[in-house]
Amino acid sequence: MNLDLLTSHIIESSNDVIISISLDGNINYCNYATVKNYGYAKEELLDKPYHILLPQEKLAELAKIMESLMFGEYIDTLESIRLSKDQKRIKVSVVFSPVKNNMGKLIGFSIIERRLTEYRKAESRSQALIETAPDAMVIVNNCGQIILVNGQAEKLFGYTRNELLGQDIEILIPDRFLDKHSSHRKSFFSNPHTRGMGRDMELWGKKKNGEEFPVEVSLGPLRTEETLLVSAAIRDISERKYAEEKFKRLLESAPDPMVIVDQNGAITLINGQTENLFGYSRDELLGQQIELLIPGKFRAQHPEYRKKFFQNPKLRPMGMNLELFGLKKNGEEFPVEISLSPIQEKDSMLVSAAIRDISDRKYIKQLEQKNRELEQFAYIASHDLQEPLHTVKSFVQLLKTDYHNQLDHQAQQFLSFIFQSTSRMEKLIYGLLEYSRIGKQKQLSLVDCNKLLKEVIDDLHAKIVEAKATIHVDHLPTIDAYKTELWQLFQNLLSNAIKFRKQDVDPIIHISCIQNNNESTFSIQDNGIGIQSKFFDKIFIIFQRLHFREDFEGTGIGLAQCKKIVELHGGKIWLESNPGMGSNFLFTI
Ligand code: ADP
Repeated sequence: MNLDLLTSHIIESSNDVIISISLDGNINYCNYATVKNYGYAKEELLDKPYHILLPQEKLAELAKIMESLMFGEYIDTLESIRLSKDQKRIKVSVVFSPVKNNMGKLIGFSIIERRLTEYRKAESRSQALIETAPDAMVIVNNCGQIILVNGQAEKLFGYTRNELLGQDIEILIPDRFLDKHSSHRKSFFSNPHTRGMGRDMELWGKKKNGEEFPVEVSLGPLRTEETLLVSAAIRDISERKYAEEKFKRLLESAPDPMVIVDQNGAITLINGQTENLFGYSRDELLGQQIELLIPGKFRAQHPEYRKKFFQNPKLRPMGMNLELFGLKKNGEEFPVEISLSPIQEKDSMLVSAAIRDISDRKYIKQLEQKNRELEQFAYIASHDLQEPLHTVKSFVQLLKTDYHNQLDHQAQQFLSFIFQSTSRMEKLIYGLLEYSRIGKQKQLSLVDCNKLLKEVIDDLHAKIVEAKATIHVDHLPTIDAYKTELWQLFQNLLSNAIKFRKQDVDPIIHISCIQNNNESTFSIQDNGIGIQSKFFDKIFIIFQRLHFREDFEGTGIGLAQCKKIVELHGGKIWLESNPGMGSNFLFTI
């Protein structure tokens, strides 16, 4: 069989309609499939214009195609309609090609037409179907070529359908993922399975204009009779990503460490403060069970609590007096306060936990508790010591008066030492008792400080006269305060200012007050002996004095009392002083 015979045999046995036409559009050849498909005998078609096979509305299309072919343009496969002899409309896909002679001169065109079979109908049904999908859909054959797209895909990627059909799917993927993608695609085809939209993978799409955007993709295999296709639903998640970013930034700006946990107790998000507090890096925590951060002895019950919370999720604020503990990476346990709040996601529930390290607060609480106990002890001790002391003092007194004649001079001297000491001890115990009583029966009231100071000064009248002291009092405010305690405060400071005077200088004392917002700063300024700055802290401690009793009488309790009273009012007390230059005691209320 020679080659021409073979060729014509093949052409005649083809199921596709094969026609050749001259430059002026007349049919000069058609194969047997033409007869079969359109119902004309060959003789009825030869030398007839090709357009007798076209319905009226396709004539313009043909004219355009012919024109393009004349100009040597390539015509893609297109879908069109042909008319059979009995005027039935037949859907076909058509390929036009130029025919040239030995010299390369255009002498006509070949036309191959294929009836659109059931498969094609199914395809157009698929097309209709994917148009209804909310997501952008792209269907790819096993070579990775796009064979179907929906309108959403056109819109999302900025290509027209015709620009996409027949292209490699990689046209929609940023260059930096190309290597990985084609191997992924091959492995998917070797083991095709449905893959839902996953959040675990960072996927990106690329638009026609080059712009990249984050996407979520779900894949599903589509088995047809002929081949395996893959459908990809693509969702633009820029907005969600943006919202996520915003949420993450918000989380970072929170003052407390925050941990976000899913329903299974897995840590899904943390902020930097959490890394700092627990000593783990972000990577070490994400995906781990939250129980990692809970000390061993509480760990076993925790999943149960967690489940209960998820069953009935509601905001739980801090400070519920729950004894909670955290566990650092280095094994250290520490007390925490935790607030919980549910976050309802579209299809799941998360819980955000704000965690506050309260080690310091616990320590301060313990300290306060200890202080209270100590004060209680001082109160009871001083109270109970008073009586036996009183007894000792009375009997010394009796000895002194009733046995005066029977005691020699030395014994009398000893007795007077005992008497002095017991008197002093009495003062100390009384002072201690007073000190521990401060605030026990405090009563807040509006106190006119001008009036109060007048009373204090009247009370100290004898001392003032004796010391030849001058006292200037500026106009003072009326404040909310504990009156008895405030009275004691002024009394202590004023008597110190009189007491610690220079030997040869009459004391001049100035009392004033500056008001600022809600705070009054009082000042008691003297021209006395002054204090070295290294003692500024020491003098406020109970029983701490800087002088011999012979020089200045005292117990060392006064300033400790002052400090306690000021702190009772939520204020501060301090001083400014230089030795020999007087002192200025200041306090805020
Ligand atoms: P006391 O007055 O009973 O000694 P305080 O607690 O009132 O005890 O004062 C403690 C010490 O602070 C005093 O012993 C004294 O050395 C010093 N001090 C207090 N007030 C003044 C003052 N106005 N000028 C100089 N020193 C003072």
